[in-house]
Amino acid sequence: MKQSALFSTTKREAPAGEVSKNAILLERGGYITKTMAGAYSFLPLGLKVLRKICDVIREEMDALPRTSEVQMTVLQPKEVWEETGRWDDAGMKEVMYRVGDDANVGLGATHEENIADIFRHMFSSHKELPLGAYQIQTKFRKEARAKSGLLRGREFLMKDLYSFHTSEEAHNTYYEEVAAAYSQIFTRLGMQAIRTEASGGVFSKQHSHEYQVICEVGEDDIYLNPAGDYAWNKEVVTGEDDPKLLEFCGGEVRKASAVEVGNIFHLGTKFSAPMDVSVTLENGERQPVYMGSYGIGPSRVMGVLAELFGGLGENGRGANIVWPAGLAPVQCHILDLVGDGMAADLYEKMRGAGIEVLIDDRDGKTAGEKFADADLIGAPHRVVVSKRSQEAGGIEYRMWPAEETKIMTVDEAVAGATGR
Ligand code: ATP
Ligand code: MG
Repeated sequence: MKQSALFSTTKREAPAGEVSKNAILLERGGYITKTMAGAYSFLPLGLKVLRKICDVIREEMDALPRTSEVQMTVLQPKEVWEETGRWDDAGMKEVMYRVGDDANVGLGATHEENIADIFRHMFSSHKELPLGAYQIQTKFRKEARAKSGLLRGREFLMKDLYSFHTSEEAHNTYYEEVAAAYSQIFTRLGMQAIRTEASGGVFSKQHSHEYQVICEVGEDDIYLNPAGDYAWNKEVVTGEDDPKLLEFCGGEVRKASAVEVGNIFHLGTKFSAPMDVSVTLENGERQPVYMGSYGIGPSRVMGVLAELFGGLGENGRGANIVWPAGLAPVQCHILDLVGDGMAADLYEKMRGAGIEVLIDDRDGKTAGEKFADADLIGAPHRVVVSKRSQEAGGIEYRMWPAEETKIMTVDEAVAGATGR
């Protein structure tokens, strides 16, 4: 990718009216741009990061037993939602956009009804279970407080997985398999997401589990055990002195603000009973299936990463993002400060070697501006081609964010970036 040809530009200042750190950094770096409150477009570099996050999630979802990827419709028919009573449910009314001449089509805010409807048209026997289906898709919700950049969108990306089982025990087994996959996903995404007991919310009466990342701007309050690997959402305890909390934590309870990046729910037969989503058991009886639902917000995850691993600098200077391994938009960033063809040669050779590389070949940008923008892009390998590096014998190579730099030839740099 050539920076001069990208469908995005970087900004020296925080966009007017933007108060959230992740939005400021990501807009300044040219990753995203705001269309309106809670609605952001992903530009080339932002889309790269988002796709990498989705790739990690997809790999772990595909590794779950009997689970495959689907893509449901964003448009939701009123009739199916009426079967569960959620079309007229006050809470859901507050959340779901309704469109069409008679406002009788919903925009997908979640997909339990939709997947249950598909299931009942396809399956009828216990022999076909268990089954899981997931999608990674844009969701729409009327969020009142859409001021947190990617953390709370009115339009945002969600990975939603749904599972179907013949018994509660069978569902519990799968639930723990998803929990293990989630641990794996969040570790790979470079974040410590703490399994947290939470209420069932609008979905079920049983406790669910959230995956919470400690973060100053988080909207959730959680209480953690001393090891910091298990927590309770404030909504399910009576306070810091809740006896069950104190007992579990050996008297040492820690409180923190956190952002929910994912959750796992027992749905039981809440959706399958009213919708008659049933299978025939071995004894010939028909029984509603046990369902589970499991969400992760890839766009919110990207916002959390910018919150955790980004710095705003001071007075608009020194802003940066250090992406966790494998999530930066490119592996290598070449800053061409000379324009004599050496950097272009390196760029072509790196591309030829299969390296994800970006070259800052923009005219009219000072070296300082190029360095400042590179700090926001956070590629792990950075190469500077300057008069000074050429006088010293070649190009300047740095494994970001280490301080040391090395002077080397173009061919050595290609070998360095490929690990050869
Ligand atoms: P919250 O309590 O933060 O509103 P939620 O309980 O409504 O989240 P779910 O409906 O279960 O969340 O959605 C699954 C996942 O989708 C969440 O864990 C989160 O990562 C993401 N998500 C939910 N709402 C938003 C939003 N408005 N913007 C971005 N991501 C979201
Ligand atoms: Mg919500």
